[in-house]
Amino acid sequence: MNTSTTFSSAWHGRADALAIDGRAFIDGKRAAGGHPSRRTTSPADGRVLAELAACTPADVDRAVSAARRAFPDWSRRSAADRKAHLLALADLMERHSDELALLETLDSGKPILQTTTVDVPGAISTLRWYAEAADKQSGELPAVPAGATALVTREPLGVVAAIVPWNFPLEIAVWKLAPALAAGNTLVLKPAEQTSLSVLRLAELATESGLPDGVLNIVTGSGREVGAALAHHMDVDALAFTGSTAVSRTLLEASGRSNLKRLSLEAGGKSSNIIFADTADLKGAAAKAAFGAFYNQGQVCSANSRILVQRAVHDEFSALLAGAAAAYSPADPLAGLQGNGALISSAHADDVERWIVRGRAEGEVLFGGARRDISGSDAYLEPTLLGGLPADHDVHREEIFGPVAVLHPFDTEDQAVALANATDYGLAASVWTSDLSRAHRVAGDLLAGTVSVNTVDALGNTTPFGGFKQSGFGRDLSLHAFDNYTAPKTTWIQFG
Ligand code: NAD
Repeated sequence: MNTSTTFSSAWHGRADALAIDGRAFIDGKRAAGGHPSRRTTSPADGRVLAELAACTPADVDRAVSAARRAFPDWSRRSAADRKAHLLALADLMERHSDELALLETLDSGKPILQTTTVDVPGAISTLRWYAEAADKQSGELPAVPAGATALVTREPLGVVAAIVPWNFPLEIAVWKLAPALAAGNTLVLKPAEQTSLSVLRLAELATESGLPDGVLNIVTGSGREVGAALAHHMDVDALAFTGSTAVSRTLLEASGRSNLKRLSLEAGGKSSNIIFADTADLKGAAAKAAFGAFYNQGQVCSANSRILVQRAVHDEFSALLAGAAAAYSPADPLAGLQGNGALISSAHADDVERWIVRGRAEGEVLFGGARRDISGSDAYLEPTLLGGLPADHDVHREEIFGPVAVLHPFDTEDQAVALANATDYGLAASVWTSDLSRAHRVAGDLLAGTVSVNTVDALGNTTPFGGFKQSGFGRDLSLHAFDNYTAPKTTWIQFG
């Protein structure tokens, strides 16, 4: 028996033995929702995972009230105390990291090799980063006229709601909850209906690690009912969202119609990867381009799904990319192999496949294009590259959110920038060149929250992540994320 088989059967056995609680988490305990629960299944192999609580607006009220009651104590604790609580949670997550990774893989279909090495360690690292940042913030002493002193402090906002998507369920939840809690807010989080299980377990671990009741609450259920109830709630002070641009619009409206709650919106993207002919390592660039387009089954908001290649190296790059894409062929997510897993659902794979059908009819499929059946599920797609489509075609402009990229040639630097900027989104972009001046020039001209040079999708705890244009506003990660969860307060002391 080789090692990968041993690894594979180990994860299958653990998955079969897993007992999963799908109830919501309110005021430090599990809670049934007001509607009958909904059975949730795995896109990886169709297995039934849990009975997921379907919350109602009344459940949302209970969660918001619990968070409101917890706020005075939590916000008045010293930052060092909040830091200690968050570090204790991170330690407990680490002890349960295999379980969290398995939940994430079963719930989302992503490979266990990814959840054990990226999603769960990434979430823990972000939690620790914000825990450590909690007690290292200082206020300001601005210049004011003689006879007075003014202090500017950063105050928590109160009860924060977070609504998150299904593509990185645990990581994106932690991107919100870590800075929000570190700054002294309390939280009600709504995970995506497809992927609620890892954050429910995280909330349970939080209570076990000593987090006071009500500080972190999880309400599960539909966006239309539970998400909208949070968005319209008169006692929610801020709403942090990651998801589609369409839902972002409804949240802005809900804030306006309710209590003007503060919003931070991480919305969709359609990011370009620009390959200039002077790229030093074209093969390395192709390997990274495949990662940028196909990683996580292409279900990445900042996926570099438009690959713009200077004409002199277009054909060579296309062949290299075909080779590199093989690393993202789909396989059983529990097998512990390199490669992609399942898309979030069979229905979503249908949607993505429709883009491939259109690409084939109106242009050409340069590689991939096939749907695959694995472990009794048809939610698997080959990494696919489309070409021969005009630059203003929908494939170039709309978010596909699957393992489908489009290749397009360009001749000049100006043309590349114009093509990359010709989208309603502005989340990310990548540039490959050996010319440092060109790298700066092009990076400066691209309307994107993150421009990666000679890499793709650069991201870390220390750098802000978010968009321009219809990719939203507000930033996750880095100290800038505290702006979503705090407001400056001036205390002016007149003594003369
Ligand atoms: P979605 O907008 O449909 O759902 C996101 C969340 O919003 C879910 O929890 C959903 O239940 C909730 N929701 C749905 N309708 C709602 C409503 N009317 N009111 C309140 N909440 C509602 O997005 P999705 O399909 O789950 O995720 C994919 C999208 O997320 C893509 O557009 C992707 O680009 C985006 N995304 C963006 C980032 C980023 O950082 N910019 C990161 C990951 C994903």
